[in-house]
Order: sequence, then C-alpha cells, then structure tokens
Amino acid sequence: MSIPCTQLKPNSYPGGGRVRRFELPHGGARVTQITTFCPDGIGPGAAHLYLIEDEALILVDTGIPTDLAKAMFYAMRIQAMPPEIAALPSDLSERQRADGLALAGRRLEDIDLLAITHGHMDHYSMGRSVVEASGARVMAHLLDTPMICNPWGFLSMIASRRHRAEAVGMPRPPDGGPKDLGRHFDPGSLGLSLEINQVVYEDGPLFIGDACYDGIEVIHIPGHSPGSLGLLVGRPGSPRILICGDVLLYPITPHPDDLLVYLRTLDRLEAIEDVALVLPAHGRIFHDLDKRVGQIKKHHRSRLKMTFDACREPRSVWDVATLKGYFDVEVVPDRFNPMAANEALVHMELLQMAGGLSREDIRAGVHYFRSSDDPFDQVYGRVLDVVGDPVIEPIMRY
Ligand SMILES: [Zn+2]
Repeated sequence: MSIPCTQLKPNSYPGGGRVRRFELPHGGARVTQITTFCPDGIGPGAAHLYLIEDEALILVDTGIPTDLAKAMFYAMRIQAMPPEIAALPSDLSERQRADGLALAGRRLEDIDLLAITHGHMDHYSMGRSVVEASGARVMAHLLDTPMICNPWGFLSMIASRRHRAEAVGMPRPPDGGPKDLGRHFDPGSLGLSLEINQVVYEDGPLFIGDACYDGIEVIHIPGHSPGSLGLLVGRPGSPRILICGDVLLYPITPHPDDLLVYLRTLDRLEAIEDVALVLPAHGRIFHDLDKRVGQIKKHHRSRLKMTFDACREPRSVWDVATLKGYFDVEVVPDRFNPMAANEALVHMELLQMAGGLSREDIRAGVHYFRSSDDPFDQVYGRVLDVVGDPVIEPIMRY
C-alpha cells in the first residue's frame, strides 16, 4: 500500500518552505504538505499544514506568524535567538503558506473549510487571514474552543496554572508572570483567535455545513490537548492517510497534557486499519502507524520507570523534571520551563492513580512524592489496568 509523493519545492534553511504532494490511488484525494516556520530544538520544529483536495478544499491548521513564534519560543523563555532566526522576515510564514497553495494550483480564497487539529498557537493563530480571504468555515473540537476562540486563552492558561507551578517547585518566570508575558505580544491586535462555526462533538464523517464528505473521517484523539482531532482521508478497505496534528510525531515524542487519556488514544489509534501514511504537524512523516504507537508507548513506560525509581527518595515534580535525560532537551534547574514540569507531572499523576506513588510531604508550598515498595512491573501492570478500563466510553458523546 504505497502512496506516491511528489516534491514541489525543497526546504530552505532555517525555516521550512518545502511543499510536497501525496496522492491516494484510483483518483482519490490529494494531500499537499506545506511546511512553514516554527523553531526547532527550542520548539517542535517547522509546522506542516495540509491541503486536502477532495470534492471540497480543506486546509488543516494554519501555521504561526513568524514574529509570534520568535516571541513565544525565544523572548518569553529568555533564550538567545540565533542571528539567522532573528533575520527571518516577519511575513515568512504567510509567504510560505501562499507559495504552497500556489504550487498546488490554489489560492487562499478557494478554501472551503479550515480544520484545526488542536488549540495550540502553532495550529490556529494564522487562521484569521484564511477566513477573511475565503469565508471558509472553521472546524475544531468542542474541548479546544476555549483556546482557539479566546484571544487571551494562552495567557489565561499560564495564569491559571500559577498555583500548580508553585506546588511543583519550578522557579517562577524571572520577569514576574503572565502579566509581563503579555508585553512580548498583544494577542488582541494580532488577531489570533478564531470564531468556530463547526464544533466537533463526536467521531464521524466530515461535514462542511450540511454537506457530508464521507471519504474523510474526523476522529477525536485527545491527550496532547483535550480536543485534539485527527482526519482519516480515504475510505476504509483502501489505503488511507491519517493527519494527526501533534498526537503522533516522529522522531520527537509529543507532550501529553493528560497521560491517561493519551495512552487510551494510542490504544485506539492502534486499532485503526488501512492507514498507509501518517502525516504529523511537525517532523517526519511515517508509514507504520502501529510501530510508531509501539515506540511511543515504550517511551512512556521508560519515563514512568525513571520517575518511579527516582521517587524512592521523596521528590518534587521539578526534581523529576530536571533529572538528567528526563526531558527531551536539557532543563536548567533554576529556569522556568513549564513544558518540562508538565512532562514530569503527567507521569507522576498516572503513577499516583495506579498506587505507585503517594504524596509524602509539603515543604514551603512544594509537594514531595515517594514511590510504593512494589516492584515496578507490578505498578506498570496497574497503570495498564487503569488505562484499559475507561469509566466513560473512549469516544465521547455529548
Ligand atoms: Zn504543534
């Protein structure tokens, strides 16, 4: 089951720009991958947008404005910006998107539906221009609408996590908190939020207004964000393409915002048949869905073990996050890093649910946890029991 790929434009250092096309056999849909700027290393890497040409024209995700990416990944995290990144023009992402569309023989104006895989800024914050040019409808899952529809969603999320950040033991942001984060960019004036006029509540065929496109299935695959969506392009029984946002990435592993929910999603993804190609929003494409899911499960098992072993002595979440090799990039212990803290937190939460970890102590507002005396394999068995026994149906119905 191979899906041919044609490169229309190569990548240019450092910010993406590649355009390539994948075609389903027998006159099926065409999917064009358009790679736009998003920093690597400090960020998830260039953001891939996908243009699905079926009976309708669907753009999946929007990219992030270049200046906003610079502010979020360098200025707010107090990281030195390499000169080649500082020199990138502020309209680079927009130009890359327009070039990609032109190479596919399309214009922004032609888009019928903008599908947002999830409510993180690199996926929706350049959507306003799509809607203004095309009048496209905008689709997202109900659970990610608070981020996408509220221009202050990002800052309010950081502010709402402040008390948790203190309990975790992470250093505060040096310049005082979310209020000051706002000075790096003005969410209102950048027009980052979007009005959603097609809310996804449950899995099923794609709709645009009342028109049903049953060659594309929309699936709820939460765990990286509460409302992460995937799109299955092609009909069951023939090779299909899975566009999965940040839920599966390669070679980096996605950051779960809820590990229990994420592992349930991995189980579900393994059960999907006929996927011949997986197109993630960052990094490399891959063909073997089950193999990648297996690798990511193994990765989390080893993070759980590392967490469990480290907590033989009482540890805070931040102690675990700053263990050597725990996070995918080096974590400086005296520097604010909410992503690293969250990675440790979600593993510690799941171990607690499985009775493998319990809170030992609170000192100066910081919580410390200790592992149980059980062997890790026994605890991991209980983790799998918790994951495999959903109280609610994995496919939510509202
Ligand atoms: Zn992303």
